[in-house]
Amino acid sequence: MKKIKLQKKHYQNLPNKAGFFGEYGGQFVPPQLKKALEEVTAAYEIAKRDPDFQKEYQTLLTDYVGRPSPLFFAKNLTEKLGGAKIYLKREDLNHTGAHKINHCLGEALLAKKMGKKKLIAETGAGQHGVALATAATLMGLECEIHMGEIDVVKQYPNVLRMQLLGAKVITVKSGGRCLKDAVDSAFAAYLNDYKNTFFGIGSIVGPHPYPMMVRDFQSVVGKEAHKQILLKENKLPDYLVACVGGGSNAMGLFHAFLNDKQVQMIGVEPAGKSFKPGDHAATLTLGKPGTLHGMFTYLLQDKKGKPSRVHSIASGLDYPGVGPQHAYLKDQTRAKYVTINDKEALEAFLFLSKIEGIIPALESAHAIAYAMKLAPTLAKNKVILVNLSGRGDKDLDYVGKLLKINE
Ligand SMILES: *Cc1c(COP(=O)(O)O)cnc(C)c1O
Repeated sequence: MKKIKLQKKHYQNLPNKAGFFGEYGGQFVPPQLKKALEEVTAAYEIAKRDPDFQKEYQTLLTDYVGRPSPLFFAKNLTEKLGGAKIYLKREDLNHTGAHKINHCLGEALLAKKMGKKKLIAETGAGQHGVALATAATLMGLECEIHMGEIDVVKQYPNVLRMQLLGAKVITVKSGGRCLKDAVDSAFAAYLNDYKNTFFGIGSIVGPHPYPMMVRDFQSVVGKEAHKQILLKENKLPDYLVACVGGGSNAMGLFHAFLNDKQVQMIGVEPAGKSFKPGDHAATLTLGKPGTLHGMFTYLLQDKKGKPSRVHSIASGLDYPGVGPQHAYLKDQTRAKYVTINDKEALEAFLFLSKIEGIIPALESAHAIAYAMKLAPTLAKNKVILVNLSGRGDKDLDYVGKLLKINE
């Protein structure tokens, strides 16, 4: 956890060949899975340099997803808070309603080039499952999505969506019946048939090459935002703010700005109901380094070293691990990680809906809530750029029930 002196471009050159960001990341998997991952790495390295692959991917982002997503100046919100200017990167306007489609299309395209027949993945909020099922359908691939039983109930419309898109949804009843258990179950299914299948991980987590590959596919968010903010403000933002579950939307935004020293980066973790074990998923804030799902990273663990149960009002954030690149950026102090609890996230969800006419995902509401705290403490010429990772349609049922209970 020592701070190493860095050369310019260093941050954007990571990970190294073995998939390490400093001491984090790597590929901690059984030998038979290592073979499968080496195949994925080799195929991805070729695709990364293949102009035809990149062109096909770009065309999908433009014509199918609707990119570039707008960078919206939230004037009402800014004026109400009376401090820094707040801009929203509108990933909620993407086809399927969140940033996840960016990497799902990349993964599905790669799977197809590799001659795979089927995509397997886990999902938390169901957003990744929907995005992957969508990409699979588009590419003519089969799709099998593993989802914790609690999330199946909480996010039923997304289960229905996946089924309509032709995916098979597997309800996972083991452990805490949440995202972590869904990952375990999906990994096992992949190991059973890795010759014909491609594992479509839903964030910048898991063994190498996933943290790098998913980040590369998501980095379009930051590349666009970098250009857009320069056009609008004639300078770079003072702060980037994004919620962190596995960390893909945050890293997608951060990556293009890593070498711009003046830009401060803030990842927002879910503090849930309290800071007691099991009540939150603030991995970088309260966790310790360890190994999970094939990577070395910060983890929330119990006394026996098992992954802790986690909770967040936002299903997409309740994961006891985090992408290894975030672990590295935290230790290097290049990014800062803060927390927002369920209540603050819900308030921000309601506030943004009323003031800007934008209903954010509960995940994204964590980033909004932190920006709402930060903006009034800053001068009016400062700029905060928030990644609005997704829309809140999927959360309406759940929020409706919560509000009734609180009445
Ligand atoms: C899944 C999801 C997240 C959390 O995933 P990251 O990998 O941390 O980005 C955040 N926002 C939305 C809308 C999601 O669907």
